[in-house]
Amino acid sequence: MNRQEFLQKSSLLALGSAILAFSSSFKTPDTGLTNWAGNLRYSAKNVVYPTTIEELRAKVLKIKGGKALGSQHSFNTVADTTETLISTSKLNKVLSIDKDKMWVWVEGGIKYGTLGLYIDERGYAIHNLASLPHISVAGACATATHGSGGKTGNLSSAVRAIELMKSDGTLVQFDQTNPEFYGAVVNIGALGIVTKLALAIQPTFQVTQEVYENLPMSALEHHFDEIYAAGYSVSMFTHWLDKNINQVWVKKKVGDVVPKTNFYGATPATTNLHPIKVNSPVNCTDQMGVPGPWYERLPHFKMGFTPSNGAELQTEFFVPRENAYKAIMAVESLHEIISPVLFVTEVRSIAADELWLSPAYKKEVIAIHFTWKQEVEKVMKVIPQVEAKLSPLGAMPHWGKIFTMPAAEVQSRYPKFKDFLALAKKMDPQGKWKNAFLQRNIYS
Ligand SMILES: Cc1cc2nc3c(=O)[nH]c(=O)nc-3n(C[C@H](O)[C@H](O)[C@H](O)COP(=O)(O)OP(=O)(O)OC[C@H]3O[C@@H](n4cnc5c(N)ncnc54)[C@H](O)[C@@H]3O)c2cc1C
Repeated sequence: MNRQEFLQKSSLLALGSAILAFSSSFKTPDTGLTNWAGNLRYSAKNVVYPTTIEELRAKVLKIKGGKALGSQHSFNTVADTTETLISTSKLNKVLSIDKDKMWVWVEGGIKYGTLGLYIDERGYAIHNLASLPHISVAGACATATHGSGGKTGNLSSAVRAIELMKSDGTLVQFDQTNPEFYGAVVNIGALGIVTKLALAIQPTFQVTQEVYENLPMSALEHHFDEIYAAGYSVSMFTHWLDKNINQVWVKKKVGDVVPKTNFYGATPATTNLHPIKVNSPVNCTDQMGVPGPWYERLPHFKMGFTPSNGAELQTEFFVPRENAYKAIMAVESLHEIISPVLFVTEVRSIAADELWLSPAYKKEVIAIHFTWKQEVEKVMKVIPQVEAKLSPLGAMPHWGKIFTMPAAEVQSRYPKFKDFLALAKKMDPQGKWKNAFLQRNIYS
């Protein structure tokens, strides 16, 4: 199979059952543009790269339909379109810092890594980051991208105001005084093109990172909360072999006092590690307790390097925090089919928020993430089995990763789903931003 055949095949398979309903609208792609992982070749007719709001407006008014494109890190078709992709990569500036409100205004296409460096130099930080700093702010907030930290929310929970361009070229701003703000932040690209956002900032802080190896999974039954309280941000990595958590990454804010834990038999690593131990840690942020600025410790991967593994697929499910242990053991029961197609799983914790399409809407959740090998057919057979195990525990899929869960089931997990649908119809009455993903998961 050549690369083009592979990409086309995997993009079809990556949609799971969803593609069956929309395969007639799938066109031979002509832009050659793929997502970061290369498993999806966008089916857009063309891609445009506006550099100013005026240019953006001219494009928006000209096109029949389209989709905002961030840094292309999603694994499913959430950012795809058969019409025009509007890349925000050149709308990427820090606009201003409001020291009174403690907000930073940014354009939607800016990457967290660029933003982090800029605000840190001026003495500020944002509350948390994802595993990688390479993603755009608007794209990450659109899908409720998160890091870890039981007391901190996902990245979109830092948004204090947001401006979108509607399909008629007008700009609309929402802030927390408007109830619809809470629907507009995690928007999966359904409402318009996010032109700018205000994010809450705080004084800059330093973080240390320590890794512990080989935590018996059994320790989680009674000590999950204690382990996740061991730092500002805690992640566990497992390959689902021998009921073992291979690594626990503990990121501590310098100066924070955290309860001590003995990690129940896990031992401190003696050198920097990659979450997949056989990989070189050269692209990972520094560990071994060496303090560094928040934007170089909260992500697992450094800005200047390729994050994660590269040729991979990703899936992630959120379950209410109280189901953490049950969910982990439910996945563990599938270890024989998961391990052969998996690079690594990461388990993180996310605080409750108020955002309508956030999986953490009004409830603390844990996220069970899978970095799969890019063996699409095999992986697509395993994902529904993972979903079947986690669904009874209230699982919700990550909006930007691969899932096959039926739309009705996904929608039923969001108490404010109908409000979001109404907002989407109000903001985009002609359905200019509707793509196959939205058609299936939101409009069906
Ligand atoms: C190596 C790797 C590691 C990752 N780690 C994490 C992690 O730690 N935590 C996590 O939660 N996720 C993680 N992800 C997933 C990733 O954060 C999400 O898929 C995120 O949405 C990607 O942002 P993006 O800018 O690439 O958006 P894209 O994939 O380009 O777009 C995603 C959605 O956002 C919309 N969008 C983008 N820009 C705009 C805009 N300006 N206006 C309106 N809509 C817009 C698109 O239309 C689309 O619907 C990871 C992905 C990769 C590849």
